[in-house]
Amino acid sequence: MTDTTTEVVATRAAHEEPLVSVRDLTKHFPIMKGLLRRQVGAVRAVDGVSFDIYRGETLGLVGESGSGKSTTGRALLELDSPTSGSVKFDGLELTTMSNSQVRSLRPRMQMVFQNPHASLNPRMTVASIVGEPLSEHKAVTNSSERGDRINELLTMVGLRPAHANRYPHEFSGGQRQRIGIARAIALSPDFIVCDEPIAALDVSIQAQVVNLLERLQNQLSLAYLFISHDMSMVRHIADRVAVMYLGRIVELAPVDVLYEQPTHPYTRALHSAVPVPDPKLEASRGRVILEGDIPSPAHPPPGCPFHTRCPVARANCAHDVPEWRELKPGHWVACHFADESGW
Ligand code: SF4
Repeated sequence: MTDTTTEVVATRAAHEEPLVSVRDLTKHFPIMKGLLRRQVGAVRAVDGVSFDIYRGETLGLVGESGSGKSTTGRALLELDSPTSGSVKFDGLELTTMSNSQVRSLRPRMQMVFQNPHASLNPRMTVASIVGEPLSEHKAVTNSSERGDRINELLTMVGLRPAHANRYPHEFSGGQRQRIGIARAIALSPDFIVCDEPIAALDVSIQAQVVNLLERLQNQLSLAYLFISHDMSMVRHIADRVAVMYLGRIVELAPVDVLYEQPTHPYTRALHSAVPVPDPKLEASRGRVILEGDIPSPAHPPPGCPFHTRCPVARANCAHDVPEWRELKPGHWVACHFADESGW
């Protein structure tokens, strides 16, 4: 960790209230069986996750498919009610609010979905899609104001007002994602969960959408939870990064620290799989190959959840749950053997 990064993280944590504060969040899906639909177990999709997000910052959330990233995003927005834990938004506890109270906060916290093909209603025009939240939350008083705002939003995301009367199928994947982003920013939110917003797009247009998100962030002082399995893209956009494995966060650090000094063995494995452009450096790098698949969240292993695949696991890892501890200001890790100098 560089001194500068350490200082920025420490100063922010000491002086600023987080916009989003998540503590011990869990989301378990019951497994039902038999004629009487008895509960026989639970899929522990999110299992005790804690983090803060500050105004105007991007927290990247990375991990393999099935690690619980998207469920975390949905649970913290109350799109799926959490099983337990606390989610505070601007100091307000969301988990104990009524539906109508959460709904009144909805303009301030939005979501951009992974698949722009599925998330836009094919029977609605772009104007109806982008204008829907404006009408629903009475953000405009008449149709002329509504039309002006829709035009403004389309321009902000790089589309043209002339696109307003077209349908989603008339657009490319990248343009459809821009429509989804226009809808998400329609009510001037403070916070957006971006759930794999570029995963379904051609590689050639992924960077354009990420650049758009960055530009809007600067323009509107947005905070993002940026969910992705793409370590390279997260490095580009995030200020801090949390690494998730089997429903838990195993490492959280400022972006430079996480990519230059990855400490948890799982972060190291993810990091080593990212190709580097320099062929010499690429050839000389050691690769950490993970054996096997991520275990089922219906039957998570005891002890450290990563011990069944960890290349450096020791005997106690199979039964002792590692403590979530702060190695240096802002650098957190859950591993028995991580220390300040790495391994
Ligand atoms: Fe690997 Fe043990 Fe650390 Fe878990 S606690 S990451 S199994 S060394």
